[in-house]
Amino acid sequence: NAKAKGRGSVSWFHDDMVDQLVSRFDLETALERALQTNGFSIYLQPIINRNASGRHFEALLRLDHPERGVISPGDFIDVAESTGLIVPIGAWVLEEACKMLSEYPDLHLSVNVSVQQFLQEDFVDQLTALLERYDFAPNHLTLEMTESLMIANFEITLSQLMAIRDLKIRLSIDDFGTGYSALLYLKQLPLDELKIDQSFISGVPHDSNDTSLVELIITTAHHLGLVIVAEGVETPEQEEWLRRHGCESLQGFLFSRPQPIKHYLPSFH
Ligand code: C2E
Ligand code: MG
Ligand code: MG
Ligand code: MG
Repeated sequence: NAKAKGRGSVSWFHDDMVDQLVSRFDLETALERALQTNGFSIYLQPIINRNASGRHFEALLRLDHPERGVISPGDFIDVAESTGLIVPIGAWVLEEACKMLSEYPDLHLSVNVSVQQFLQEDFVDQLTALLERYDFAPNHLTLEMTESLMIANFEITLSQLMAIRDLKIRLSIDDFGTGYSALLYLKQLPLDELKIDQSFISGVPHDSNDTSLVELIITTAHHLGLVIVAEGVETPEQEEWLRRHGCESLQGFLFSRPQPIKHYLPSFH
């Protein structure tokens, strides 16, 4: 029609923005509804460590969207963060993880914690309450946080991490290498584990910049007494190289994609 013909790229851009707003609004509504109706689920992806006993998984959040099916955090985590909904959503994930841990004594779980959730004044109290309510070894729970979170709020972070360490819950730095933190900073934090971001692992063993960097991270992290996890391991060549260079834990599609809980814990719930 005439109106449509008269439109230039500017109004096309405008329509695109409207689409984005609608989709943001739709997502916010879907997230709110999911909180009320048990509309989230957790997928588990194994973390392989041949020296460790028991089984270890990372818990990864999914949204069961009524029309769009299962949605990954990449498509909704921004909206969850900017609306603050990540706080109750994250609390739900943590509680589900604690339930699983209390039902399976050989289980270890890693749970992602967002900045907003971590900066809740009562975050440590919430963890303490969970440890009282659910019976499991606290060192079977690992909290994964990004380095930007830790550096941006260094003072609060330090005292809060100390308090979490006192609870015997493990602490891991996620997506390591993507932020701005120097390895030196790490020395001051009570960490147990460091996860090398998959953007570096994807260059192993072919890209010499990536391999030098990963070698440096492994050496330094071991020097600091940290367990290293490589994320995004997709090929046998990566596995072989990482094992040869002393990386003890591996996670990635090579071993398994994230699977619904019932795949690994059939009797849960
Ligand atoms: P992350 O914590 O770094 O989790 C690893 C992501 O890499 C997961 O994406 C996983 O499915 C994906 N992945 C694992 N192995 C491979 C591989 O071999 N190749 C490739 N290409 N990807 C691999 P997912 O599940 O979509 O989660 C994305 C991010 O969303 C997570 O990154 C984490 O930052 C965030 N997230 C997930 N669950 C939660 C949660 O419960 N709370 C919060 N705050 N964030 C979460
Ligand atoms: Mg993670
Ligand atoms: Mg990660
Ligand atoms: Mg990552």
